[in-house]
Amino acid sequence: MTTRSETQTTLDHLLTEIEHRNPAQPEFHQAAHEVLETLAPVVAARPEYAEPGLIERLVEPERQVIFRVPWQDDQGRVRVNRGFRVEFNSALGPYKGGLRFHPSVNLGVIKFLGFEQIFKNALTGLGIGGGKGGSDFDPHGRSDAEVMRFCQSFMTELYRHIGEHTDVPAGDIGVGGREIGYLFGQYRRITNRWEAGVLTGKGRGWGGSLIRPEATGYGNVLFAAAMMRERGEDLEGQTAVVSGSGNVAIYTIEKLTALGANAVTCSDSSGYVVDEKGIDLDLLKQIKEVERGRVDAYAERRGASARFVPGGSVWDVPADLALPSATQNELDENAAATLIRNGVKAVSEGANMPTTPEAVHLLQQAGVAFGPGKAANAGGVAVSALEMAQNHARTSWTATRVEEELADIMTSIHTTCHETAERYDAPGDYVTGANIAGFERVADAMLAQGVI
Ligand code: NDP
Repeated sequence: MTTRSETQTTLDHLLTEIEHRNPAQPEFHQAAHEVLETLAPVVAARPEYAEPGLIERLVEPERQVIFRVPWQDDQGRVRVNRGFRVEFNSALGPYKGGLRFHPSVNLGVIKFLGFEQIFKNALTGLGIGGGKGGSDFDPHGRSDAEVMRFCQSFMTELYRHIGEHTDVPAGDIGVGGREIGYLFGQYRRITNRWEAGVLTGKGRGWGGSLIRPEATGYGNVLFAAAMMRERGEDLEGQTAVVSGSGNVAIYTIEKLTALGANAVTCSDSSGYVVDEKGIDLDLLKQIKEVERGRVDAYAERRGASARFVPGGSVWDVPADLALPSATQNELDENAAATLIRNGVKAVSEGANMPTTPEAVHLLQQAGVAFGPGKAANAGGVAVSALEMAQNHARTSWTATRVEEELADIMTSIHTTCHETAERYDAPGDYVTGANIAGFERVADAMLAQGVI
């Protein structure tokens, strides 16, 4: 039997090879390190996982598609963006994962997101594989007509790679209900099929699931609550800092408030807002979802309790809980040190990989409960899978039913991560628990299905 340290040496070699084979993809390297650095105990304990080629296959996407997306702006000028879809692993079901429209998107970013998605989707216990896609298109400041033309051009290539049994995209940064509508319309037009299950995050009247917009934020708060319960506390009366002001942030704030916590911040790329009375969600939704404005408008209209801090770090605001809900690597070592100094008890990731590896290490060393995104924000994709189930049965469930299912799934993910961490001598380490539990499920399916 190989020891843990021999196994770790093998995994370290593989990580070096991953860096060589995938140059200039730092986010993908970071995501691969994060997972492979926690797998030694399970690979050493279960010899079948040391089978040559298993982990090598897991880190290599099954398919990567890169395509040109030409479109015309309102002045009639032709613009050209780049589109991506990485179909990473389908051992557990059709590829499933969102589309991101943001200028920072490149192949490495989509691969990091797709890789994370494999383990996240496995943790939900539902039959979904891992994938991700997007474009370097920036929807900020674009008219509805421009966004529609872009989405139509994007789908004109993407449609041939997706399908309800093949690959099912959803939203992510820059892709919300409006974009999913345009994408679905073009898919329907090209294929002449009413195939509701090809995209999730659809509108309520045409195949969308109730609670899908809320699911990621609500689920993350439920995960944070479960971590707090392990420490003998609940969310009542706790102060929370939340970053971002998009889909995930808004519904994180909504659920925190419903459970008695005081969410005092939100942010966007221009800066952050602190509101001592707690964020007024009606005002934030009006500014962000209706007017598509910036967060400084919130402070201007809210009155004396709120102030806008241009630039700066939202993590400077003292709080019991921190829920990063904007983007990758937004919470670094310095921010973690500040949070710890201010007495933070739990950090739960609504965004994907928002906490740098150094910051995670610091938080865990300080005894802060840390919920990694692949577990804590899995509620979104879980309800997407419930949307697929409703589409398949041509039915729609009540909000209560979807919310109960979401709560059960989040409880089960928390328990799985907690128990798996204990089983592998890492009590309280949700990173190890999530990685190993997700890995076991995918690896078992891959082994059973042979070398493909
Ligand atoms: P949205 O586009 O709705 O909101 C994103 C928010 O984050 C905006 O406030 C945006 O500000 C801010 N943001 C994005 N990029 C940056 C950046 N580089 N610097 C500073 N601020 C930034 O996206 P979502 O809420 O859907 O997604 C947020 C995070 O949650 C992402 O990491 C996503 O992968 C993750 N996630 C989302 C799920 C979902 O169901 N939507 C599911 C699971 C995870 P600005 O407008 O100024 O750019």
